[in-house]
Amino acid sequence: MKLPSLNTQILIGCLLGVTAGLWLSQAPGAAHAATTLYGAKLLGNLFLDLLRMVLVPLVFASIVTGVAALAAHQRMHRVWVTTLLFFLATTTLAILIGFGAANLFRPGEGLHLAMFAEATQHYQARQMPLPDYIAQFLRGLFQNPFKALAGGDILAIVVIALFLGVALVVGGERFRTLRRLFEELLELCLTVVGWIMRLAPLGLAALLLQLVATQQLDLLESLGHFIAVVTGTTLFHGIVVLPGILWLLTGMTPWRFFKGAREALITAFATSSSSATMPVTLRCTEQHLHVKKEIAGFVVPLGATVNMDGTALYEAAAALFVARLAGIELDLASQLIVFFVAMLGAIGAPGIPSVGMLSMVLVLESVGLPSEAIAILLPIDRLLDTTRTAVNVEGDMIGSLIVQKLAVDRENGSKIG
Ligand code: ASP
Repeated sequence: MKLPSLNTQILIGCLLGVTAGLWLSQAPGAAHAATTLYGAKLLGNLFLDLLRMVLVPLVFASIVTGVAALAAHQRMHRVWVTTLLFFLATTTLAILIGFGAANLFRPGEGLHLAMFAEATQHYQARQMPLPDYIAQFLRGLFQNPFKALAGGDILAIVVIALFLGVALVVGGERFRTLRRLFEELLELCLTVVGWIMRLAPLGLAALLLQLVATQQLDLLESLGHFIAVVTGTTLFHGIVVLPGILWLLTGMTPWRFFKGAREALITAFATSSSSATMPVTLRCTEQHLHVKKEIAGFVVPLGATVNMDGTALYEAAAALFVARLAGIELDLASQLIVFFVAMLGAIGAPGIPSVGMLSMVLVLESVGLPSEAIAILLPIDRLLDTTRTAVNVEGDMIGSLIVQKLAVDRENGSKIG
């Protein structure tokens, strides 16, 4: 019997996962519920672990080869500048949209902090002052390569790989074998990703089942307006704004983009981790969206840690929400501070689940809002992290396509189909 295509299998898996999760949430105490959840947890973690297994060698090899190829053609500078400008512009836009939505729809109106006294009373927010946060970020950039590789520290790996990629080209013919080795390592890792993806329908179903079955329904209800505003705005950014920019700059239709990007978007949604999703993001960007290896290999891993539109948008909207709960109207100066801190938070945060919560404390502290309010946001965070991470990952794929068009194709005078 011929199996349906991988994409159809993933779609069926996701639908089954959500349905089973809904069914379990109706009977939380039943014996079969605990067993099913246990099984789903094992399977979901197995899928995540497999992705993490290839992550480090894949990122390392893909940046070294990408940078070496770009540097060899003296395109590095153009690609750098275009990538960073794109990241900066879209993150700015995301924060402005977050502010706009929170001002327009005013989530939090009619609620106040005292209503959540129980949650906030026992909560001690993990605090880190802004200067420490910046210092920690900068110190994390340059590390012992072996430590970074062993610890899976993506940002430090990106930096080491950048140096090695450039050095490979500067060294020229001498390092030909080493360069070839990295190219082959990359191919090898992508082959393994292909195998892991066969497990995606099951793995994603298990992750979605857990997500749906373990939501706290009462909190979802009282914070429903906030959840709807954040999710709606994040989707607006991901479905209208980013694809609109892509279409304007490259001519690629949203339909074509989403068709090529769906595996990565669904994986990001279900795992809430741009890092764990990265092997799938690279595969989609190179194989389905046909971005050159050297561009995708550079933009995607860098973007997975520094370009987080969804996170930035969320932090801006959530800061205004908490301010309203605390009965404070943030003036323009405070909103500007939130803007910069949210931007730094999104850049500094590694792409792992709920990490946005950590920088959220920073945002709140920066304008004197009570950081215990995080206790209200935490229980709903797994839910909000789904769309936020999908949009974070989408930004990296769209960035690759735009950088390819603006920094490479235009130079060659050719077009992306
Ligand atoms: N989970 C997000 C990501 O991995 C980060 C966040 O918590 O906002 O992209």
